[in-house]
Amino acid sequence: MKLKTRFAPSPTGYLHVGSLRTALFDYLFAKKNKGEFALRIEDTDRERFVEDAQEKLLAVLAKMGLEHDGDMMVQSLRLDTYHKQINKLIKDGHAYYCFCSQERLEKLRQEAQAKKEVPKYDGLCRHLKPEEAQAKIDKGESYVVRFKIPENKIVEAKDLVYGKISVKTQDLDDFVILKSDKYPTYHLANVVDDHEMKITHVIRGEEWLPSLPRHILLYQAFGYEPPAFVHLPLLLNPDRSKLSKRQGDVAVEDFLAKGYLSQALINYIALLGWNPGNDQELFTIDQLIKEFSLERINKAGAIFDINKLNWFNAEYIKAIVEQGGSRYQQLVEQTAEFIPEHKDRIDDLLHLFGTRINNLSELKVMSEFLFNLPNYPAEMLIFKKSDREKTTQGLNLALGTLGKVEDKLWQEEKLNTLIQNVAEEHKLSPGDIFWPIRVALSGLEKSPSPVELLVFLGKNESLSRIKQAIAKLG
Ligand code: GLU
Repeated sequence: MKLKTRFAPSPTGYLHVGSLRTALFDYLFAKKNKGEFALRIEDTDRERFVEDAQEKLLAVLAKMGLEHDGDMMVQSLRLDTYHKQINKLIKDGHAYYCFCSQERLEKLRQEAQAKKEVPKYDGLCRHLKPEEAQAKIDKGESYVVRFKIPENKIVEAKDLVYGKISVKTQDLDDFVILKSDKYPTYHLANVVDDHEMKITHVIRGEEWLPSLPRHILLYQAFGYEPPAFVHLPLLLNPDRSKLSKRQGDVAVEDFLAKGYLSQALINYIALLGWNPGNDQELFTIDQLIKEFSLERINKAGAIFDINKLNWFNAEYIKAIVEQGGSRYQQLVEQTAEFIPEHKDRIDDLLHLFGTRINNLSELKVMSEFLFNLPNYPAEMLIFKKSDREKTTQGLNLALGTLGKVEDKLWQEEKLNTLIQNVAEEHKLSPGDIFWPIRVALSGLEKSPSPVELLVFLGKNESLSRIKQAIAKLG
């Protein structure tokens, strides 16, 4: 049988990084084994319905390069199938109609809580005869369908990461499989579809591990062979709490909007809960496919560390800027979306800052001074080992020397030599001349080198900024 995995998100309107990790591991495992990676939309919870969620999800998966094989399955379009399967379970004595009101269920919950017990449905409707149930349905009473948990049995399940799990059926509740709105619950639809789609490996987040015994019971009731299960360790905040929005971004869309590159995100996410068995950190998607194995998935929760992601992203940007080629052209286009007002200067900006940024939106902030000179105090122009007089002299010499340079000789090395020569001639130190040029051009104490700034700004703008600096020194 061909190996097949699936990513089965419930559309929420955005892709959580934890879901991206699930999708990625499903994808890597399928591709590694020449199998298929399917996509199923689990949208049977109508209370959580989000407009356009499906389109957004497909768009972000495509951006991340995780395209699915075959047709996408959408659960809300398959209600007939679920109804048929639920009727079969009822007929075979594995499920029953339940007419208990919300008030009654709430009362049961409160009673259990008062006794410090885990709330559990007491099985009142289990004993209704089929004719009694039918009479209530005919009268138009609202109902759900519950799964009949077998009595006094032990359910055994095996997870490829977490090992064997066994649960006593006494500890399980007759859970709902069809809701009063006629939509199936997650558990029912999930099992029916994994079987129908011929999924061989269910790879999903650890939060679903407690549901596994219920799924196994459903497989048994249907007489289906269950697939293999692989649960992935939770993603955690640096303080080891469950990764949540409150401590920073969690939506893949937010990272993309800040200018994180999809390849860098994929690379970083791949190492959350999986390791290659050596200290290699940078992987292309093809290398990940080659190296991936279930054996090296860890059980312990994995910390999502934004600093580490920044490191990966910076490495990717740097490598692309250094290597050039078509990926560089793509990067230029992507960067232009962040700084559309200076579209024509992107290439220069990437060469100035490409080796020092964590993401593309930082580039916009970092390069702002090139287009709008910040208002800086005159004292900033004076290097700590220099004084006002030498600084003014240095700037005036620079102005005179640079003013005579022909446009075609306005190049980093030439300008550097000219300034160095004039400094030596007048016995000025670099602090007396290069430092004030830097501040004059940038309004900052830290920036790319003064000659890089001269070249970026061009002759007119550079001379005008130096004149402003001289005026500030009065
Ligand atoms: N719809 C579930 C989710 O969004 C999928 C769980 C599963 O893969 O079985 O996490």
